[in-house]
Amino acid sequence: MAPGRTWVIMEECGSVAGQRRGAAFHGFLQDACSLSSAIPIARTLVVPFGLLLLAQHAVPLLQELAATHGTLLTVLPYLAAALPLSTALLLQRSRAVYLAIWLALGGWGLTLARAYATSEPLLSAVLFHACGILLPLNFALCGYLPEYRSASLRGLLLLGLIPLQLALLGWLLWSGRTDLLLPLNRLQLPAAVPGLRLPGAVVLAFLFALALLAARFWRQPSPFNAGLLMVLLALAVACNRAAAPAVPEAFVAAASLILAVALVLHTHHIAYRDELTGLPSRRALNEYLANLGRRYTIAMLDVDHFKQFNDTYGHDVGDQVLRMVASHLRRVGGGGKAFRYGGEEFTIVFAGKEAEQVRPQLEELREAIAAYPLVLRGTDRPTDGRAGRRRRGQGQRRHTAHVTISIGMASRSRELRDPAAVIKAADEALYRAKRAGRNRLAT
Ligand code: GH3
Ligand code: MG
Ligand code: MG
Repeated sequence: MAPGRTWVIMEECGSVAGQRRGAAFHGFLQDACSLSSAIPIARTLVVPFGLLLLAQHAVPLLQELAATHGTLLTVLPYLAAALPLSTALLLQRSRAVYLAIWLALGGWGLTLARAYATSEPLLSAVLFHACGILLPLNFALCGYLPEYRSASLRGLLLLGLIPLQLALLGWLLWSGRTDLLLPLNRLQLPAAVPGLRLPGAVVLAFLFALALLAARFWRQPSPFNAGLLMVLLALAVACNRAAAPAVPEAFVAAASLILAVALVLHTHHIAYRDELTGLPSRRALNEYLANLGRRYTIAMLDVDHFKQFNDTYGHDVGDQVLRMVASHLRRVGGGGKAFRYGGEEFTIVFAGKEAEQVRPQLEELREAIAAYPLVLRGTDRPTDGRAGRRRRGQGQRRHTAHVTISIGMASRSRELRDPAAVIKAADEALYRAKRAGRNRLAT
């Protein structure tokens, strides 16, 4: 059981040889979220970007098609929106359901605005402003909302925001109170930007959403947040060139495809990545092992006396320690790839390496973790700032803890012919390391 006083990792950590001073532990925590995903996330940006290029190239083709098959072009945004909508409904992702509906509505609104540009300029301007403002704002909103199941009450409440906004727009139009929108129309950009045809209010809405979604992506670089950013880009192009035939259709359709891709990638991300540490999960390890060559070394790592650590400092601090350990593992040298095996156990696979080749890297890793100072404080410190400073000055609540790990490793050989056998041998070596006193590497 956790003790009477609960502990938290201090925001400021002391330095250790070779490590930066200050907030070092928190640096590790941020790392666990961002760096771990840096490469897959970069990849997740490639596909949406490709779809944007494709939309750009599809425009002349769609314009030709519109001459003979006008209806096909009209239904294109809805057909495309059906893909993320059905995927999101199947996966019960309320935000994506909400956004897919907005994309279908956006496609409709933009094409109507273009159709009425000369016959009903006021209606056209209102529809265009509604699309150019509501679309980015709703996307920014979804970047910050938690994920509710689409069939839950909260999911349905989110969907309820759509008729609410549409009703407001309808009231503005049918009551003749479009004068309320005049201040939006008067917003001017300080300087003309070449190629930019958007009115000031729409530019502001997109910039505001872009800033919010970019900040979200920076803090949590998931494929879904990457997708939201790219969808915003597609919508900005659709609005900027809304008067051109086939352009809004092509780019709103691209936005829908990007949303569908983001959904699929996000689901893959959740399945293959451990949520706590950001490391690839056991499922990812099994796939990685199935594709290894004939030479490899596997290391099994286990945090020492971790149950006792949890009992002393609490499960939350234990979780943060696992993230710190994972962060060290991610940086292991020798081409090792780290996975969370389960609980406080991790696996590192060194493809193409013999055990003796990776021993120095594993020893270095073990030493770095053992030397890492976890600066903790009790949460019963006074809330009064002056008293708190006095007590901290007396150094009463500061406490530095350390964790160690034990490692067992084994390489593929004639006796150990498959990954399962190598893992079993590494596991046996791990228990030899434990029996020999922990904080050591055994083969
Ligand atoms: P040993 O040195 O022999 O490995 O001892 P140990 O206490 O580390 O091993 P034991 O298997 O008895 O305990 C493992 C502990 O790890 C128990 C469990 O509560 C804790 N643990 C497993 N997963 C998590 C997790 O995700 N977060 C936290 N905080 N603790 C975890
Ligand atoms: Mg264990
Ligand atoms: Mg353990």
